Amino acid sequence: MSEALSTTARSAARESGASESGATESIISVRDLRKTYQTGKVSVEALRGVNLEVRRAEFVSIVGPSGSGKSTLFHVIGGLTPATGGQVIVAGRDVSKVGDAGRTRLRRDCVSFVFQKFNLLPNLTAADNIRTALYISGRTQDGFEKDFREILDLLGISGRLNHKPSELSGGEQQRVAIARALATRPAILLADEPTGNLDSRNSLAVLDILRNLNGRFGQTILMITHSSEAAAFGHRIVYMSDGRIVDRASLQKPEAI
Ligand code: ADP
Repeated sequence: MSEALSTTARSAARESGASESGATESIISVRDLRKTYQTGKVSVEALRGVNLEVRRAEFVSIVGPSGSGKSTLFHVIGGLTPATGGQVIVAGRDVSKVGDAGRTRLRRDCVSFVFQKFNLLPNLTAADNIRTALYISGRTQDGFEKDFREILDLLGISGRLNHKPSELSGGEQQRVAIARALATRPAILLADEPTGNLDSRNSLAVLDILRNLNGRFGQTILMITHSSEAAAFGHRIVYMSDGRIVDRASLQKPEAI
């Protein structure tokens, strides 16, 4: 990414900063979070006491080496896996206290994921891929509501909705995946390496879109990335190492996109 674009990313992120929009309420509150995976006799401490507060309408980047616990943190916040210890409050729900059904409700009502792999269904058009999220959440509507159409316009895919994934570029597929994640209008979008499968031009387009979704619609976003330039699109960067949140100085410099 060019120096000019990096600078633009940083200043735009500052301009749309949550503190300037007056939003100070925590939408995610993680306290002394621990997660141990048990595989047979082997146990892996993936999270060893993580503390994190995220305000509504913040865009937070999470950076750290492979295996540092970033995805596990997302999986616990997003209700994909239970914590082993500690407290996680997401959009007012104490996720650490609910069971499988509570975590399913959290995923249905509050949190959506975007992954490095687009995970689109190959036989469905982009529009039907997006509708699957609505059907799964119990909303059976054929058309898209006006405010969601604005999101589709922002994503630049309004004219591509009748195409199947194989007829779309990688960048377009990821934008459809983002639209699918946003179809239920989740309070929180968790993007796990969303530019990991994209070239630098498409990476920039997707990062720009995430920043605009945050700035224009107040979408709370947490994004895992290996890239320092991508991380600069967020309001702030949280560094992880060995299952903990650490100071920047404790980490090696992340890669460029
Ligand atoms: P990151 O996203 O930073 O690469 P992860 O959260 O994927 O880190 O992994 C943290 C640690 O937990 C790693 O040692 C990884 O091997 C381990 N781990 C992740 N998922 C599982 C799982 N489902 N079962 C067992 N170990 C896991």
